[in-house]
Amino acid sequence: MTARTQTQSQAHAQAVAGVPTGLLIGGRERAASDGGTFEVIDPVDGAVLAAVANGTVEDAAAAVDAAADAAESWAATAPRERSEILRRAFDAMIEDADRLARLITSENGKILADAKGEVLYAAEFLRWYAEEAVRIPGTLGTAPSGANRMLVGHRPIGISVLVTPWNFPAAMATRKIGPALAAGCTVILKPASDTPLTALAIGRLFQEAGLPAGVLNVLPSRASGAVVKEMVGDPRTRKLSFTGSTEVGVGLMQLAAESVVKTSMELGGNAPFLVLEDADLDAAVSGAMIAKMRNGGEACTAANRFYVHESVAQEFGARLTEAMGALRSGDGLDPEVGLGPMVTARARDDIADLVASAQEDGAQVLTGGEVPAGEGFFYPPTVLTAVPQDARILQEEIFGPVAPIVSFATEDEAVELANSTPYGLVSYVYTQDLSRGLRIAERIESGMVGLNRGLVSDPAAPFGGMKESGIGREGGAEGLLEYMESQYIAVSW
Ligand code: NAD
Repeated sequence: MTARTQTQSQAHAQAVAGVPTGLLIGGRERAASDGGTFEVIDPVDGAVLAAVANGTVEDAAAAVDAAADAAESWAATAPRERSEILRRAFDAMIEDADRLARLITSENGKILADAKGEVLYAAEFLRWYAEEAVRIPGTLGTAPSGANRMLVGHRPIGISVLVTPWNFPAAMATRKIGPALAAGCTVILKPASDTPLTALAIGRLFQEAGLPAGVLNVLPSRASGAVVKEMVGDPRTRKLSFTGSTEVGVGLMQLAAESVVKTSMELGGNAPFLVLEDADLDAAVSGAMIAKMRNGGEACTAANRFYVHESVAQEFGARLTEAMGALRSGDGLDPEVGLGPMVTARARDDIADLVASAQEDGAQVLTGGEVPAGEGFFYPPTVLTAVPQDARILQEEIFGPVAPIVSFATEDEAVELANSTPYGLVSYVYTQDLSRGLRIAERIESGMVGLNRGLVSDPAAPFGGMKESGIGREGGAEGLLEYMESQYIAVSW
């Protein structure tokens, strides 16, 4: 990496200028109770971008108080009014999309095109749930005995704690805020400490859209464990929605169990990408570039294991290597750049460790594989071949721009390899035979399948995983019900 110019540093400073850095509690932006702050780092050169209020356990309790104060009136607010506030927030986000995208690039590192894509995707959750808010379902039935009617309605579950990761700082927030607010819940968002600025910007945008005080509170904190424990342990909290690693998710499920708090868990992935012998290879390579390289590979949906039929494995590997090798690394704000830095030095080092360990196991590097000298947390686009199936890189989430290729001989073997993981978030299948593709999709243990597509995420569809990739769904009609309780009333008339 070449050292950044003064202009580039200024561009990052400008991207964060004016973004709130205080906690948002009860409609007020304020300092942490002990005055503490933590630094937000620019992954492109390690410079400090901002100092953000470091929420304490006391602040967490105050945030639950604020959410509790607003809960009754928000739940009683007409669905149409809740819908219109969400719609105004959507409009504001679209209007502000370029600024928000630059902010995301600055604190997360992803390239501007990905950041802009994220903002549009994030905003779409607000529009979708603005539309769903006025369509909350209910049913009326007759008891089998004929003795009474069965009236089933849905009501807001109550105060919801939302914990989000750093890889999609806007979309992971709105994917929870949208349905929670549509359902009539008040919330506290605890964003990832590496990327709190985007969440704070979204918090302000909601205030400006007319959201009543206390309905959305934002609590950045480096003391994640302690503040989340305080909020989830509060008897007034009824819901915990978490997106992040399986390891942290398991601990939070145990915590939630203590007070029987309902959880939604969007956890890690280890997506297989299957290329069958009858696949359109051009389509498979461009799908692979999206499934692998969107967000620099830092996505739970990122293709992690490429299983390619032995008759096309070499050709696919060569084409993917060419496409990956053509990407230029650098500052994500530069429109010529195809890959930004990883979010932290640790994230970059974890990727380098996985690649080194794969090489020790016999994998060959077709491109990349070396951490570049110079500042910033960069890792190059990398393709590995001859990766043995028991290599650690095929068992763990890579979370970076590395594509390991393994060849297979039969369809059954491909399905078995795809399913040979405790994860089950998303899978990708490339074949020109649609019924074969659908048959394989139904045999794969994952909550989502991209059939001849490298991208599945859509706010109108249920996003979520099977097995250790999670519990519950976000998006679609399903996403709203995660924030509601069914209530059945038995009535005779
Ligand atoms: P992480 O689990 O380290 O952190 C996620 C969030 O939990 C952050 O806000 C963090 O501050 C907080 N946290 C960490 N430890 C905590 C604790 N002990 N108690 C309470 N909160 C705690 O994950 P990450 O590194 O931010 O994100 C990457 C992970 O997220 C990957 O595994 C990725 O697959 C997953 N992810 C999943 C989805 C999905 O929808 N399934 C989407 C995006 C990311």
